[in-house]
Amino acid sequence: MASVGDAFFQKQLTSRRERLQAATARNGEMTELSRLVSEVDAALARLESGTFGICEVCEGNIEPERLIADPLVRVCLDELPPHERRRLEADLEMAGRIQRALLPPQDLTAHGWEVHYRYEPVGPVSGDYCDLIVANPPSGEVFFLLGDVSGKGVAASLLMSHLHAMFRSLVTTGQPLEQMLAVASRLFCESTLSGQYATLVAGRADGSGILEVAGAGHPPALLVGASGVTRIESSGFPLGMFADAHFTTQKVEFRAGDALLFYSDGVTESRSPSGEEYGVGRLARFAETQRGSTPADLVSACFGELRAFAGAQPRADDVTMMALRRAA
Ligand SMILES: [Zn+2]
Repeated sequence: MASVGDAFFQKQLTSRRERLQAATARNGEMTELSRLVSEVDAALARLESGTFGICEVCEGNIEPERLIADPLVRVCLDELPPHERRRLEADLEMAGRIQRALLPPQDLTAHGWEVHYRYEPVGPVSGDYCDLIVANPPSGEVFFLLGDVSGKGVAASLLMSHLHAMFRSLVTTGQPLEQMLAVASRLFCESTLSGQYATLVAGRADGSGILEVAGAGHPPALLVGASGVTRIESSGFPLGMFADAHFTTQKVEFRAGDALLFYSDGVTESRSPSGEEYGVGRLARFAETQRGSTPADLVSACFGELRAFAGAQPRADDVTMMALRRAA
């Protein structure tokens, strides 16, 4: 997860304090407001003394996402009373359900393209972003999107739904792919906390068999072709890192039997029981042996290979893969 420093919390807490004081001045009902003011003051004092973010009961670290959501928390999850834990779990479950409802159908055939993806969050919610969008006529173009938001948990899933909404509207504007990414990066910069960003690979295809691909700091897409696997590298920075970032698109020509594979870094950063990283090279070598399979079979085979590599090792990250090819 992208880390945020003391300065971030200092700013958050100071602005909370100002708002509370303004409300106190307006309001006759003092007790609740002054209680909150003293809690904010206590948090500022903890920042000052270097104990901010440390659990008051076990002296372990408080979960960073919970601190970002609420800088006033003083104990780690383990210390919460059962009813509060149940409430948090119910919230998380609901967030997961909302997130799953944002996913596109797992299989899509449009404009002579055939797509399949698999999305496996490690917890109830995921920081992976995956979408398939068919633009309205006359263009009817197909957009393939796969991204990975910094961080984990509910905070990351909120950013994921933010990306989802942005691209759903951006595709209606009909602007070039590289420009869509530039706008998305700027909007992401302006509307999220600093230090939060998303890597992304985006494809845009029409009926001619040519696909444009643009990447924002994402692992390379893999074109599985007759003469081997070509890596299509991401040339841009992650979305949200710079407000005036530039992106470039590459045209990818498909021949019969070729497939393109998108994946999140949860795939390539998976580890074997001995700690070895899965890596792009291994994924590319395996994908090459599967040339000619349908997108669904390719994704399923790659997941199988990844599982065999990782063994009983518990997964550390969300895993998403998408494959597409020209329909036979
Ligand atoms: Zn604790």
